[in-house]
Amino acid sequence: MASLSADVVACPDCDLLQRIPALSPGGSAYCPRCGRKVATSKPGSLERTTALAVAAAIAFLITNVEPLMGLSLAGREASTTIAGGVWQMWEQGEKITALLIALFAVIAPALQIGFLLAILLSLRRPPAPRWVGALLRWVEIAGSWSMVEVMMLGILVSLVKLAAIARVVPGVGIFAAGGLILLLAAMSSSFDPREAWSRVRWVKDEGPQRALPSGGVDAAEAGR
Ligand SMILES: [Zn+2]
Repeated sequence: MASLSADVVACPDCDLLQRIPALSPGGSAYCPRCGRKVATSKPGSLERTTALAVAAAIAFLITNVEPLMGLSLAGREASTTIAGGVWQMWEQGEKITALLIALFAVIAPALQIGFLLAILLSLRRPPAPRWVGALLRWVEIAGSWSMVEVMMLGILVSLVKLAAIARVVPGVGIFAAGGLILLLAAMSSSFDPREAWSRVRWVKDEGPQRALPSGGVDAAEAGR
């Protein structure tokens, strides 16, 4: 039995265990049984993702510090940030809504960006510590609960409705939130977890020496 380490994966669709061959830049590997793409080579992924994650962190800070919009009605002016809006909802008794917004529009994106930055920075200086493995799982969970774009949709709907009764001035925060949505999407798609995992496995004392069971095969590679 051949002993294998980092390159054995199970197909997400049909569970077939297979060995990922060395991929050419931009090439992909497909499951030989069901044709599902099991790996894609993304050259320079870690560097590109680090740049995008730093930009996302800056956009996130601006989104949360600067006012989203200002209102002026009959000589009175008001403006609010995301945190200010959450606090006002809490005060007005909408506690569940306030908690949901804080969780999905502030805490989850903050964790997603923070976890990814911690992973990327620790991978730059091998050996990568073991907690990177746990963070790789957590960043996926945080990413699936991060819903800045849903909040943005709600804000745009309220902007259109409020425009009929008051003068609405979009704030810096709303443009930063738009940028944040794009950066989060780019950051997630440019990140290559397979490369990150391979660097974590590198440094384990013994390494997971798993043998490919009989029935395991090599994934088929196809260049793009
Ligand atoms: Zn398959």
